[in-house]
Amino acid sequence: MTKKIVVLGSLNVDNIMKMPRMPLVGETMALTEVTTAPGGKGANQAVAAARQGANVSFIGAVGNDANGQFMRATLLTNGVNVDAVSTNSEVPTGTAYIMLQESGANTILLHGGANQALTVGDLNHALIAEADVLVAQFEVPFEVILAAFKIAKENNVQTILNPAPAVYDLTPELMAVTDIVLPNETEAQLLTGITVINDEGVLNRVSDELQAKGVSRSIITLGDAGSFIADGKKRWWAQPQKVDAQDTTAAGDTFIGTLASVIEPDFSNLEEAVQRANIASAIAVTRPGAIPSIPTSDEVDNY
Ligand code: ADP
Repeated sequence: MTKKIVVLGSLNVDNIMKMPRMPLVGETMALTEVTTAPGGKGANQAVAAARQGANVSFIGAVGNDANGQFMRATLLTNGVNVDAVSTNSEVPTGTAYIMLQESGANTILLHGGANQALTVGDLNHALIAEADVLVAQFEVPFEVILAAFKIAKENNVQTILNPAPAVYDLTPELMAVTDIVLPNETEAQLLTGITVINDEGVLNRVSDELQAKGVSRSIITLGDAGSFIADGKKRWWAQPQKVDAQDTTAAGDTFIGTLASVIEPDFSNLEEAVQRANIASAIAVTRPGAIPSIPTSDEVDNY
């Protein structure tokens, strides 16, 4: 059966500015190259789920501008339904300015724009109620996520929260309607105050701390060290695939979209779902870019 997934999240246009180094205060510096690409954690996760064969709808907002049309077209081209993407005439589409230095280091400035102007009134109640899984990140206002997750839980829809960036707390009210919390190691550290290192004892403590906040299940992604899962008392470290990483952009988003597309309603296949998400994200890191790097279901099957 094809899974119905709703992604509530951000749509950003990424402006990637290549530069020799960061400019000094007051300096004017010529850029080496400027490129534009579709982005936003929401968009990446929606495309990742769609490429795994899920029926994906997006809830979000863009501005009444060319960037907004570009983001709608990107979702549509990738088979994501945009009927619940609203157009806000007051603010521009979200934009990220990525300062990429020759050394490979990057610094990002983000303007939330229409993402941050999303309101509870923009939520399509019926769309959420009829879904199998609802996925959200922290790039849209907290109250919108909370309202959406409450609708989901009233209708037995599974909820997956990617607390990225870690700008809000995991409140008891939100955790009561969240099935899986899925941070990367930086976010897990910010949320728990524990320095996350690749050590089983430390990862168990971080998982305990998350559970103390009301988290039912957590999956902490650890880059090239795989991921650490806590489902109640059951804990395990899912080993990563060994690959030659080229560009880790959208690794976490690919992991989340893939997991959402295969997780069973009772979470009984969590181990296999994480394994598949590990494979999909490992494929993504071997290829450049965000959305272009996300694999299809066939590519994961044949891995
Ligand atoms: P984020 O992109 O959110 O920072 P991570 O870097 O933790 O997320 O990566 C998410 C997942 O992608 C990891 O759990 C792992 O499965 C996979 N992954 C990331 N980097 C690598 C790598 N170098 N080799 C293999 N798998 C990787």
